[in-house]
Amino acid sequence: MTSLYQWLQEFWGKIQVPSLALNLLDVVIIAALFFFLFYFIKRTRAFQLFMGLAIALAVMLVISIIAGWAGLITLEWLLRTVVTMIVATLPLVLAVIFQPELRHFFARLGSRSILTHASGYEETINEICQAVNQMAEKKMGALIIIQRESGLEELVEQGVKMDSLVSAEVLSSIFYPNSPLHDGAVVISRNRILAARVVIPLPDVTGLRRLGTRHLAALEITRETDAIAVVVSEQTGAISLAFKGELQADLSSMDLRTRLTSLLAPQRREKVEKTGKRP
Ligand code: ATP
Ligand code: MG
Repeated sequence: MTSLYQWLQEFWGKIQVPSLALNLLDVVIIAALFFFLFYFIKRTRAFQLFMGLAIALAVMLVISIIAGWAGLITLEWLLRTVVTMIVATLPLVLAVIFQPELRHFFARLGSRSILTHASGYEETINEICQAVNQMAEKKMGALIIIQRESGLEELVEQGVKMDSLVSAEVLSSIFYPNSPLHDGAVVISRNRILAARVVIPLPDVTGLRRLGTRHLAALEITRETDAIAVVVSEQTGAISLAFKGELQADLSSMDLRTRLTSLLAPQRREKVEKTGKRP
């Protein structure tokens, strides 16, 4: 054990990583850390407060320097003391400013929604659920295909290509009865609508068919690929979800949200794929 440890130590000592490469790595890691810190801060409402504080500190510092030159000793002392006090208590000040964001962040850390957020599907799920609820209430027929790993290029090619941010309004307008795009399916990948009026090839099935063609198309695409299909029935307003060739009918809006969240969260995919059902 000791000899292995010694050997490892010697081995590590022999490795000569060029100092330029190490310095570069150093700079890249620091830059990445600052980028993510800034990215996180910039997306928060407290960013303006943070900027306000930084500007106030800078102004106080400049005035205190000018006061020093001009010989205004008391003003200089006062400003320097205030600036020093603020800087010394900065961690505490930042914790107070960002308290709502920090609380939100830690609350979500343990929840599953951060998984969907990380996969870029959180907003997509919100918008799809909102659109589906509205369409179900008005009995507007819809078929929404959500791409996962399998590519759907062939389908997208034969539909009407789009490149639009997924929003409840756009989805409802597409499926609005008599709109030029309402027939067929919409294909979504992450937060983009890739195409509308997509027709899913159906095998020739003879005999009695329990399901209509929209529901059959949903089943068919999920048999061939790992995509998810959400259907709103024009006849009944019922919401269904197809995955891996199985159709779950009559879902409540809450069921739909739960199901989409569990299917689109990255760390849950493996379990879903193995069992074919919700973990
Ligand atoms: P609903 O409950 O809404 O009536 P359904 O399953 O009974 O659905 P149909 O009534 O047969 O389905 O078809 C309704 C619509 O479904 C069609 O007008 C068309 O927009 C869409 N649709 C049918 N077949 C396909 C397909 N292969 N690919 C995509 N969309 C389809
Ligand atoms: Mg029908």
